[in-house]
Amino acid sequence: GDRGPEKEIPFNQPGSLTRVFAVASGKGGVGKSSVTVNLAAAMASSGLKVGIVDADIYGHSIPRMLGAAERPTKVEDMIMPPVAHDIKVISVGMFKPPGNTPVVWRGPMLDRALHQFLADVYWGDLDVLLLDLPPGTGDIAISVAQRLPGAEILVVTTPQMAAAEVAERAGSIAAQTHQQIAGVIENMAWLPCPHCDERIAVFGEGGGQTVADALTRTLGARVPLLGQVPIDMRLREGGDEGKPLVLTDPDSPAAAELRKIASGL
Ligand code: ADP
Repeated sequence: GDRGPEKEIPFNQPGSLTRVFAVASGKGGVGKSSVTVNLAAAMASSGLKVGIVDADIYGHSIPRMLGAAERPTKVEDMIMPPVAHDIKVISVGMFKPPGNTPVVWRGPMLDRALHQFLADVYWGDLDVLLLDLPPGTGDIAISVAQRLPGAEILVVTTPQMAAAEVAERAGSIAAQTHQQIAGVIENMAWLPCPHCDERIAVFGEGGGQTVADALTRTLGARVPLLGQVPIDMRLREGGDEGKPLVLTDPDSPAAAELRKIASGL
């Protein structure tokens, strides 16, 4: 029904000091959520005030990866987001009906949910807001462009060429909607050999650079490859246990790379 004029989104106000990053990927399973969580944790541990909107309707794995078990509470007309590892987090999964009933999120519904996450959630003064988008080039990318014109896109891909092609397509939406692309992150870049110094190219090589170069051509502005995060079993375990690797083993190669990317943004 008609609920009257929509509330303003604080991040669009002139003078807002919050940088907003939308984390995108061409397909699922490339580590978009893992990267989001670890970037957020790296930023929060360096003293920044950080929030995450988990808008990945298919995955919505952010609360588990952060160990955020609580549900949001309502205070007057605001939604108070749960906090985990100093990160405020709100997820589409927190608004599902009890049980495991799958929700069919149609474009307009998702757009409304996104607006609610941005305007009705009490974020306070954030330094950084990270949005974990669903994979692909769906309606949500358009919603983000309209709702958050100042958001910068971070594209996550694996080194695999098939993944790189779809990642590039996801990124080129930004060109059409005049959004900035902060850069490309190549995840699962290699597996360190457990017995020697060699890097095993499990998913091939070059996907991250290929996407960065292709987006640079499409946008006519340099899109950098921000980093290459190796495969690390503990990164996956940390996700399963709600303890981001950048906090439990910040000097491991994967965590160090993620911290480098976070501090360069
Ligand atoms: P997406 O959000 O793109 O669907 P996820 O972040 O859920 O991907 O990652 C998919 C799976 O791969 C998860 O089980 C995650 O723990 C694991 N994973 C992601 N990145 C890495 C990595 N660099 N090393 C090891 N496992 C990873």
